[in-house]
Amino acid sequence: EPVDVDKIMAEVLDRTKTPASAKEIEVSFQGVRGLTVYGNENQLVTAVVNLMENAIAYSPESTRVIVTTSASEDGFVEIAVADQGIGIEPRDLDRIFERFYRADRARSRATGGTGLGLAIVKHISTNHGGWVTVTSTVGVGSTFTLRLPSRPTEAALALPPSVEIGGAS
Ligand code: ATP
Ligand code: MG
Repeated sequence: EPVDVDKIMAEVLDRTKTPASAKEIEVSFQGVRGLTVYGNENQLVTAVVNLMENAIAYSPESTRVIVTTSASEDGFVEIAVADQGIGIEPRDLDRIFERFYRADRARSRATGGTGLGLAIVKHISTNHGGWVTVTSTVGVGSTFTLRLPSRPTEAALALPPSVEIGGAS
């Protein structure tokens, strides 16, 4: 089903404002408005929330997270989450999308995660006929980019429609 990217972003910002404000991280949205992607809204919100939670978890206090949305010429929508965090070593970059993989810097953090967030993001993007990429510099920050089809693809059409829980549709 067609999903409004602005609606995804509103939901994502709502679900991440508490952890962001706890670290005084300012989240800004520099989006092209009115974009549509094709797929399952709940899964897409989960994917972007996972990227945002990482951006917040792996950044020092009082940094910024910038979310950008744009449309590419070949029928994809890009949602990019950029942080000013600890960054990722080149040798870890290939592996962070594996289930349970955590880089040393993250493993030694006081508050642990399970290493599943990015595996889920990868799974959701692949399910949608899209993909996820990362660029990162240690000590500078990381940018994760989701590319999702803005037209119905076979992969996206096979996904179940989202159900509004407790609300009229
Ligand atoms: P969780 O299952 O709670 O999400 P996690 O955050 O450790 O646990 P992933 O989200 O899959 O698991 O991330 C895997 C690893 O990739 C992290 O442990 C961390 O080493 C690295 N990583 C992910 N996002 C970032 C980021 N924005 N900045 C720096 N490192 C990151
Ligand atoms: Mg995570």
